Amino acid sequence: MYLADYHVHSSCSPDGHLTMAKMAREGIARGLDELCFTDHVDTIQWGTNQPREAYDWAALQAQYDEARRQYGSRIKLKLGAELGEAYLSFDRAAHLLDTAPELDFIIGSVHMSRDDRGYFDLFYIAGDRDDAYYHAVIDAYLEELLALAEWGRFSVLGHLTLPIRCINEMRHKNISFRPHMEQVEEILRTIIPKGIGIECNTNRGNTPLPDAEILTLYRRLGGEIITLGSDAHKAGNLGCVIAERQELLRQCGFRFFTTFDRMKPDFQALSH
Ligand SMILES: [Zn+2]
Ligand SMILES: [Zn+2]
Repeated sequence: MYLADYHVHSSCSPDGHLTMAKMAREGIARGLDELCFTDHVDTIQWGTNQPREAYDWAALQAQYDEARRQYGSRIKLKLGAELGEAYLSFDRAAHLLDTAPELDFIIGSVHMSRDDRGYFDLFYIAGDRDDAYYHAVIDAYLEELLALAEWGRFSVLGHLTLPIRCINEMRHKNISFRPHMEQVEEILRTIIPKGIGIECNTNRGNTPLPDAEILTLYRRLGGEIITLGSDAHKAGNLGCVIAERQELLRQCGFRFFTTFDRMKPDFQALSH
């Protein structure tokens, strides 16, 4: 079984903890064959709505070079990025990418939505609102995701059903994505002809983001490009249930999962 974790944060992310070298060492200990670093590169400053005009790619590259020097012979390492909030300014997002070193892979992610008070990070969503509020927040989130999909300068859409994690798992609600499937399908129909994929974010062993229903829909619509990622921010979550989710992908009709090299997809057989 070939195990590749394609969503990993190092201490280059504001919410990351370990250097890339330490994450690589942990990946080897956990039996991973390949690991792609996808640190946060956002169009806004961390924890604010203030625009970010530049990113310290040199610091990222230095960590990556050191990880490869120490562990590159024992685990295949790739350099990617999780591009966050591109829809807030596609110009700023393009500029951030134009100044980047050669990347293997880019996750395009939306972490925010809006309500009557404006944009806010879904991580901080209120826990005391009615169901209609949460559905409106998901609608707005999916509108941003569609705009991101239409822009298209990334490899896969990150954690497509992220609001499920923030609303149901963190705020203990029971909100279904079902009423939003028309929007989801439009997003999938937008990315597939562009050669853009989705990730199956293993979400620390909780509900995969997205779950089997959307994975099956994506496959049925002709989607083939799909990465598996733990979204680990510390050692304990690295590679979490990547092997089990290979089986889920097979059940949803996939025969391959995807790794990337210099932005080009490679297809890896799903194990039996
Ligand atoms: Zn993310
Ligand atoms: Zn992430």
